Amino acid sequence: MIITGKSAAPGVVLGSIYIYNKNFIIPKESFLKDEEKNFHLQRYNSVKELAKKELEELKNSLSKIDPLKAEIFGAHQEIVDDITINEEIPARILSDLWAGDWAIFQVYQTVIDALHQIADPLISERSDDFDDVRALLLRLWYDQKDDALLSFKEPVIIAAHDLKPSDTAKFDKDKILAILTETGGVNSHSAIIARSYGIPAVLGIEELLSHVKQGQLVAVNADTGTVILDPKEETINEFQKKSADFFRDRENAQAYRNKESKTSCGVKIEIGVNLSGSNVEPDLKTCADSVGLFRSEFLFLDRNVLPAEGEQFDCYKQILEFFGQKPVILRTLDIGADKKLPCMDIVSEDNPFLGNRGIRFCFNSPDIFKTQIRAALRASVYGNLWLMIPMVTSLDCIRKAKELINSVRADLRQEKIPYGDVKIGIMIEVPSIALAADLASKEVDFASIGSNDLCQYLCAADRTNAEVFAYYQSYHPAMFRLIKDVIKSFAREKKTLSICGELGSDPLAVPVLIGLGLRKLSMGSASIASVKRRLSSVSIEKAEQMAEKVLRMETAVEIEKYLKNS
Ligand code: PEP
Ligand code: MG
Repeated sequence: MIITGKSAAPGVVLGSIYIYNKNFIIPKESFLKDEEKNFHLQRYNSVKELAKKELEELKNSLSKIDPLKAEIFGAHQEIVDDITINEEIPARILSDLWAGDWAIFQVYQTVIDALHQIADPLISERSDDFDDVRALLLRLWYDQKDDALLSFKEPVIIAAHDLKPSDTAKFDKDKILAILTETGGVNSHSAIIARSYGIPAVLGIEELLSHVKQGQLVAVNADTGTVILDPKEETINEFQKKSADFFRDRENAQAYRNKESKTSCGVKIEIGVNLSGSNVEPDLKTCADSVGLFRSEFLFLDRNVLPAEGEQFDCYKQILEFFGQKPVILRTLDIGADKKLPCMDIVSEDNPFLGNRGIRFCFNSPDIFKTQIRAALRASVYGNLWLMIPMVTSLDCIRKAKELINSVRADLRQEKIPYGDVKIGIMIEVPSIALAADLASKEVDFASIGSNDLCQYLCAADRTNAEVFAYYQSYHPAMFRLIKDVIKSFAREKKTLSICGELGSDPLAVPVLIGLGLRKLSMGSASIASVKRRLSSVSIEKAEQMAEKVLRMETAVEIEKYLKNS
């Protein structure tokens, strides 16, 4: 039997199933007698303390070996202390006489439901963290042991309904061959962690747990999203070979992570890293040439008050100091009606991706924008800061943003507060500005192509909507044609241009982008090794020939087929 799902991280493996069932207890709706309420309140407070202690221990044990995982538990500690939740739960116990476990369950459910309403998967999937913290609190409430801390003797293929961040973080990655789940989007935590460790993952397999058995042999092809149950001898032999190739290939790629990135003919291609948090893997100082995209919005999410100028300054300073003289491209707040800020009452919109997002949101809330710019400019003396404006659609946008930045510079000068020589650039992620790149390139110091949004706007296909996934074509001929023109315009003005959308980390697309003239790519940390390896195998001449061919092709399918065979 063959079952299928969405490929979230590539790879081919053969192994036994381990069904991972987290015992999640759903409490019964129950109410207290008046004399019981103080006991339940005290119990809630002590369970909270136990949870924080457990999270602190997990965070400390992981902080040196894996700062990214440790960050997850740091975020969970903040959730335990969330001000709104901690007003709500005691109020439900004391005023409405809800039993403590029922209050925990229900109050967290309200937050989880609210997060699910948000269209942006990067935010809605934060509900996983709240779900996780709730499970921890309830487990402690019922004095249960943690079954999640599993250590397998032999590597296994995990099959689960869903995996929460703390589950994946607690697993020993060397003992996991692949991850299969019934739920989970390609931007879910399980997918992100699987990708960052190079663990093959197939998510969204319908009724997975009713198909597989504990210890069952399965062959997983996560490149195509297929899982073969009880494979025949012939298939076993085929997968043993493919799987050996996959592991060898993954090892080989890693050897490139710390090498200088050059084409086979010796042309240097600058590699930037995309950061979405303040924790940075130590080797990025050497294996990345710059921070090509610092998604500053992570500082603003999941909190009840906006980050103050001082907090932002500390964060930006820390990143700038870490990277020394290497450029750090700080993208100003890219938030909007699709990415709600709990600390602000943002009106819902019918078409949030076409609405009040990115720089438009900042124009409507200039104080938030100016506070961020002030913090960034003050921090700029500690490194090499470049500022990048998202969701730019016209020259008016660029000029208005520059005016606001200049007004902050003027304030700082008046207050005699030093700031550095900061370059100002834009994201090219909306067709209107891509088509006006000849004009935009005269107006800015640099730009970066946001291919994720550019594709959604160019193909008119919501990047978060699985229903229109087939229309969201990153290899659409129009994408390459448009990118070619943008590259030409910026080259004419001798202005720096990079790409920081997913297309720039796709080893298939990379030769075409280089062939079109790009010399700077920025990507998630986990993609650096495979991109450097791909670059080392292709000459500029060959890349140019590939780009020329692609530009003559008619469909995304034709282009994909050609790139897979090149
Ligand atoms: C993009 O749109 O390509 C991009 C890099 O920005 P984000 O994915 O954060 O919208
Ligand atoms: Mg974008």
